[in-house]
Amino acid sequence: MRISNADANSASDVQVTDSAAAQSAGPRGFAYNSQQYRVVFGAGTAARLNEEVERLGIRRVLVLTTREQRDQGARLGAQLGSRLAGVFSDARMHTPVEVTESAMAVVQAQDIDGFVAIGGGSTVGLGKALSSRTGLPHIAMPTTYAGSEMTPILGETQHGIKTTRRSQDLIPDTVIYDVDLTLGLPSRISAASGMNAIAHAVEALYAEDANPLTSLMAEEGIAALGRALPRIVVAPSDGAARHDALYGAWLCGTCLGAVGMSLHHKLCHVLGGSFDLPHAETHAIMLPHATAYNAVAAPEAMVRIARALGASDAARGLHELAQSLGLPKTLAEIGMPESGIDRAADVAVQNAYANPRPVERASVRELIVAAYRGEPPSLH
Ligand code: NAD
Repeated sequence: MRISNADANSASDVQVTDSAAAQSAGPRGFAYNSQQYRVVFGAGTAARLNEEVERLGIRRVLVLTTREQRDQGARLGAQLGSRLAGVFSDARMHTPVEVTESAMAVVQAQDIDGFVAIGGGSTVGLGKALSSRTGLPHIAMPTTYAGSEMTPILGETQHGIKTTRRSQDLIPDTVIYDVDLTLGLPSRISAASGMNAIAHAVEALYAEDANPLTSLMAEEGIAALGRALPRIVVAPSDGAARHDALYGAWLCGTCLGAVGMSLHHKLCHVLGGSFDLPHAETHAIMLPHATAYNAVAAPEAMVRIARALGASDAARGLHELAQSLGLPKTLAEIGMPESGIDRAADVAVQNAYANPRPVERASVRELIVAAYRGEPPSLH
């Protein structure tokens, strides 16, 4: 076994060789990269923001939010007193570079030395973009289940093109998960965002670089969200269900940050980018179909997904969960044109992704057609 400091953030990289693994970690060798960050989790943890800001030595904070969450951002930021230098509330989906540049102008004009991102993946994306450009500390306070706060990944958009990069310095220094901040997340966004989180865990279970630690987190994350989401849809202010869902989202986000994703994420990226479809709903519609596609090639992962959901079959269990949450059932409903099916199939098979089952155009096209029409998932 070799243990070394892997990068400037001193995240640890543990590699187990096959012969060592035979004694200590089962028959298959693996590599595991841990990330360096601090997590504060619970109900009411937002009250610890000042303490966490002080811990990082930040004197002039810029709070980041979207327009819709501006009041929430201002209210939470107020507890920082004289440390609050301003609230920037223009965060938008897909991290447009022009938004980051206008925030950078505020950073310079206001002598900012740290960021607090309060919101979903869009706001956390802006926090990552600013922190990586300036080297300043970043505290994320997630209010959806998307999981961006746990990943070293950032997708930025300029002139209509989204470019994704991966770097350890994109990971927030501290993540404050406050269950109370999710109580106001509307049920439909909660359900879609939760399915988005489950998708990270499903693909982590059959990832090329899957390992025992992320698989444990993946199964636990699916189980926690699978239990919580149906309760949240009925009673959005159910604190115990919100606790489970945010805990599950943390685990699923960790999986997304730790191992590579496969066909499902590629398809959602292609569909979202080509037809401007809503991110989380696209995940919710595609996930049972992509899971069914991979079922024959990833039997162990299927057992774990089904077990986590208390279902007899992984893809069917995911399909039934999505149906029970009242989410859109078809790509047609969320704005995909039928004429786009062939284009989506073409793009999806370009630049091959690691995937347990070979990605063939005809089968992928059938999968997209089934999702377009809202048919139950089947082996394509
Ligand atoms: P989002 O951040 O765009 O939020 C959707 C809407 O819900 C926004 O208007 C937001 O203000 C509002 N909202 C969020 N939390 C709320 C709350 N608690 N109460 C009321 N309103 C609330 O949506 P998202 O799904 O969290 O993030 C999507 C974006 O994140 C996409 O751009 C996606 O590409 C990115 N993402 C990135 C990663 C990564 O690892 N880099 C991971 C997941 C998602």
